[in-house]
Amino acid sequence: MSDRVYNFSAGPSMLPLEVLERAGKEITNYQGSGMSVMEMSHRSKVFQKIFDDTKANFIKLFHVPENYKVLFLQGGASSQFSMVPLNLIGKTGKADYAVTGNFSNIACKEAKKYGEINLAASSADKNHTYIPAQADLKLDPQASYFYYCANNTIYGTEWQYIPDTGDVPIVCDMSSDFLSRVVDVSRYGIIFGGAQKNLAPAGLTIAIVREDLAGNELPYTPLMMNYKTMIDKDSMYNTPPCWCIYMLGLVLEWLESKGGVEGMEQIKHAKAKLLYDVLDESKLFTCAAEVGSRSDMNVTFRSASQELDAKFVAEATAAGFVNLKGHRNVGGMRASIYNAMPTEGVEKLADFIRAFDRAN
Ligand SMILES: *Cc1c(COP(=O)(O)O)cnc(C)c1O
Repeated sequence: MSDRVYNFSAGPSMLPLEVLERAGKEITNYQGSGMSVMEMSHRSKVFQKIFDDTKANFIKLFHVPENYKVLFLQGGASSQFSMVPLNLIGKTGKADYAVTGNFSNIACKEAKKYGEINLAASSADKNHTYIPAQADLKLDPQASYFYYCANNTIYGTEWQYIPDTGDVPIVCDMSSDFLSRVVDVSRYGIIFGGAQKNLAPAGLTIAIVREDLAGNELPYTPLMMNYKTMIDKDSMYNTPPCWCIYMLGLVLEWLESKGGVEGMEQIKHAKAKLLYDVLDESKLFTCAAEVGSRSDMNVTFRSASQELDAKFVAEATAAGFVNLKGHRNVGGMRASIYNAMPTEGVEKLADFIRAFDRAN
């Protein structure tokens, strides 16, 4: 569709065109129900089927083992920063945090309200341009859990390995690389993420919780922040984010048609490589993240001057490549290339970068 731009927004970010068109078609009358999904009771049979099918498809595509519960929550990934310690830290009163960016830093600060936090690793010494190695993790065997953020949306770094924490359960924020790669869920205690980067519109937060970890919440844990409440009521203690769950269902069908998470993993790596190769070859640009820590989802880069960065962003915008300005913590540019960004969009951006490099 010629009136659509290539949207490199970090989030909320683009959704597959096929999904938007299908949602558009069904917006006033969902499959003969005579009403929009937005207007339905969450207890209706029609919606219950949307909910069940979506959850089942998520479990299938992400290979979630049987002893895990998939929860459809609200409050954003940021609410999980409180929900995780409220539910898990009571076991020993202690937790390990790896701080590799903005969101793990906020999560770490929040957790300090509820227990004793050990900074297991930090990349703050080099403005979060790298991911610490396993050998550099200072792990506390007494920790109730180990926390990290798989993909650092702002800094453009991504963990290339799952930390080995022995018997300590791992909690992971996958907001910005959810369903972009195959994950061995059994290595984790909890995986969570806001949907608006890779999965659905803003308003839905997904948490995958190993069942035995729920039910140990601190006594003052708010009802709505208790994993056990939500597990017992299958995410429907109260009204869930119905529209977003429906949209997730459509995105998952689309994902399946693209070869599932396995298919996405192939595509996303090739897409990222297109950009990193052009940037590495260019005279003007350098990547913010160190080789070996680079994100396949958020590509951060800059030129030698802020003026040239601004010129790049302005010319890119005029050419139909929008939302490329980097986050203020990093500066420069950031191209977010989540699942829904077609390879064609990345190829065209790579061409644009090459041409800009030559002309400047
Ligand atoms: C966007 C983002 C968040 C914040 O998500 P909200 O849903 O806005 O709370 C947290 N963690 C990561 C990795 C993110 O990319």
